[in-house]
Parts: sequence; structure tokens; C-alpha cells
Amino acid sequence: STQIHLASRPTGWPTAENFRTVRVDLPNLAPGQVRVENSHISVDPYMRGRMNDVRSYVPPFAVGEVMTGGAVGEVVASAAEELPVGTTVLHQQGWRDVAQGDASDFTAVQPVPGVPASAFLGVLGMTGLTAWVGLTTIASFRPGDTVFVSGAAGAVGSVVGQIARLLGAKRVIGSAGSAEKVRLLTERYGFDAAFNYKDAPVREQLPAHAPDGVDVYFDNVGGDHLEAALDVMNDDGRAALCGAISQYNATGAAPGPDNLGNLVTRRLTLRGFIVGHHLDHATEYRERMGAWLRDGAVATDETVIEGIDHAVDGFLAMMRGENVGKMLIRTR
Ligand code: NDP
Repeated sequence: STQIHLASRPTGWPTAENFRTVRVDLPNLAPGQVRVENSHISVDPYMRGRMNDVRSYVPPFAVGEVMTGGAVGEVVASAAEELPVGTTVLHQQGWRDVAQGDASDFTAVQPVPGVPASAFLGVLGMTGLTAWVGLTTIASFRPGDTVFVSGAAGAVGSVVGQIARLLGAKRVIGSAGSAEKVRLLTERYGFDAAFNYKDAPVREQLPAHAPDGVDVYFDNVGGDHLEAALDVMNDDGRAALCGAISQYNATGAAPGPDNLGNLVTRRLTLRGFIVGHHLDHATEYRERMGAWLRDGAVATDETVIEGIDHAVDGFLAMMRGENVGKMLIRTR
């Protein structure tokens, strides 16, 4: 089988030299084990953080070890009764075409009719749950709120905007990094307004799209986006601090918002969160999103790169913004 290992820790933007493709022979199955052929592996922004040797909410990747993370596949050989051949499973063994281990490391998933299993890495998986928890629990979304989402055409952001609309937002505003994505936001995902943050400073563009201010800001980007959002926040506004992708490859200290004083005068709540601490919401979320998907109420996109040998290319393309919706690697 083919695995992608972390070869060295990057400084700034990762390059191909930071990774190594390794071919391994898998041993025979021990009792209680299964072998899984992955169909898709997930590449996610948080993986950039795990390449650094720093304390965080997940331990760093080990140099010389496989890049672990979410993947879905099918059991192709089984020495474990509970996971027979043909079962679709979700697991965390990451960037490899074939995964093998104890059945307890794999979770059987119940496919939603008409929805591909890859959705368990996106809209029905970690990124979708992040959108749901961030909006409803962390930002305490209420019907009638005006919501601004950055990174809005990505896996998390595209779901945030659509859930906000389904739950009765007054207005949903999104930002993304290309004209094509901006068009998708209004035409496909139902955002009321959208802009390209590369056209002009966010601070100059956002006020025109938020004439009545913003009650909820869902922050995927940090930096200039957070600063611009704080300018237009209404009294008692709430921001869910989900990520700060504008800073993940930065080498120096990033400039911070100069308007944190608004937190006081407008009684704002900025609250960070990690989706892994809110897994108790997963069942309710999957039920609600499953129903929305069956009804065609939510549009969901994936950008799929072919082949385990292109996992690194796919990861870097995602960090550059070349994905719409969830970025995935197809491995068979
Ligand atoms: P996306 O699918 O949104 O892919 C990343 C996107 O980030 C790119 O497509 C690109 O889109 C955008 N981007 C890259 N650089 C910049 C920049 N300098 N400024 C603005 N946008 C940029 O990824 P996810 O949906 O998986 O993740 C979105 C965010 O959510 C990330 O910050 C991630 O770390 C965070 N996250 C947090 C979790 C938690 O538990 N708190 C869980 C999951 C994700 P564009 O073309 O628009 O630039």
C-alpha cells in the first residue's frame, strides 16, 4: 500500500520536500482486524498546524510517520465479525490508500440515500458539524440575525451560510477569494450578498454588504476579516472563532485587529471552539442535515483530486483556495 509521511517540518508554506511517499507491504490480518480500501481521504487546514512542533489541541504529526486524518473506505478483508467485507467505514488513519487495524479503530457509517460516502468527510462529517456547532451553539444564532461568514465557499463556510438561511437568518453575507466562488455563494448556496476579498480590503467592502450591521460573524480566516467584522458588529453581537487560515503559513507575527475596544462598547462575545469537544451534537446534526440533503435544501460541493500520489498537491491547492466545498483525495 502507499502512504504519505511527513518528512520534515515546514517553515511557512509546505513544499513537496516536506513529504515522502512510502510503499509498504501489509502483514496478514490478525484476529479482530480489518483491511480497508480507502475511497477518499480528507485534507484539512488544521493539518498545517499539526506539521509544527507546538502545543495545540491535537499533538503534532511525528516526522517519519504517516499523515493521519479522516478517511472513508470499504472493508475488503475482515477478521472481525462486527465489520464484514463490504462495510463502509470512517477512520482516522489518513493519507494512505489501504488502512488496516483493529476493528475498533473503524466506524461503520450508514449511507444516506443519494449521498456519496465521501460526505462523511464533509457535509455529514467533521466540517459540517463544525458549521452547525459554531453557528448554533458557539455563536448562539437566532432567527432574524444577520450573519457574515468568511471562507464562505469552503467546506465549513458553505454549510454555515446554508444552515443560517434554513434557520431563518435575516441576511447572510459571505466572502471568498475568486469571482467564481462569489457567484456560487449567491447563485448556488443562497447567500444574500458576497464579495471577493482580493478585490479590495475587506474593511472597505464589507460595510456596503451589511447596511444593518452583523449580529453573528463566523470566522474562518482571522486577521483582516476579523477586524472588518468587528467594525460592523451590532450591539450584543457574537463571533464564533473557528479558524484563522490567513495566518497558518505566516512566518512573522500577523497584524491583529486594532478595534478590539468594540468588544466592550458593543458588549460583543467572541468565542473560540474545537469541534471535537462538541461531538454530542453529531447525532442531531446528521439527522437534520440528512433530511435537508434528501429534500435538496442544501447544495454540497466537493473538489476531488485523483490519486494518493497527489495528496500533497491537493492539500496545498486547498490552502491556496483552489477548492470549492470540501477538498478530498480519491484513492481508488
Ligand atoms: P476550506 O474548504 O474553507 O478550504 C480552505 C479555504 O481557505 C481555501 O479554499 C481558501 O478559499 C481559504 N483561504 C486560504 N487562504 C486564505 C487567506 N489568506 N484569506 C482568506 N481565505 C483564505 O477549509 P475548511 O472548511 O475545512 O476549514 C475552514 C476553516 O475552519 C479553517 O480556518 C479551519 O482551520 C477551520 N476549522 C476549525 C474547526 C474547529 O473545530 N474549530 C474544525 C474544522 C475547520 P478562498 O479562495 O476563499 O481564499
